[in-house]
Amino acid sequence: MISRREILLSGGAGMALMLAGWPAMAAKGAYPVTHSEAEWRSLLEPAQFAVLREAATERPFTSPLLHEKRTGTFDCAGCGQAVFSSKTKFESGTGWPSFWEPLADDVVATGTDRSYGMVRTEALCSRCGGHLGHVFKDGPKPTGLRYCINGLALAFTPAVG
Ligand code: FE
Repeated sequence: MISRREILLSGGAGMALMLAGWPAMAAKGAYPVTHSEAEWRSLLEPAQFAVLREAATERPFTSPLLHEKRTGTFDCAGCGQAVFSSKTKFESGTGWPSFWEPLADDVVATGTDRSYGMVRTEALCSRCGGHLGHVFKDGPKPTGLRYCINGLALAFTPAVG
């Protein structure tokens, strides 16, 4: 028979696994741009902090960037690194800004996210370790990838001219 105490303990272990599954937190100091938690809280809006630094997911169909059709770049809202181009943005129907490829090979890092009982590929900014979203293998050609990105993690910069 399982005691109440054991149930509580297993809940705690589940929480520990969730945290262990987030490489951005484990790899503190491994990114070119680092800040303390207090600094990040002062730099970011609370909702941006929840996404970028705590891997929260914004509610679908809430980001103004879903409807951003101009030419330009989508930059990490944490550090300003350009991470996606408007050229690879597509309408996925999921309610989150979606791209089939990062702007360059080295701007989006990936990790394994085992939170919420799922195994997903996490997409992180390579410069500050900020959580951007996840990568799925049901995207369009030519990559077949779908970078499902929180609009709160991005800032759009229109192309000049
Ligand atoms: Fe960043």
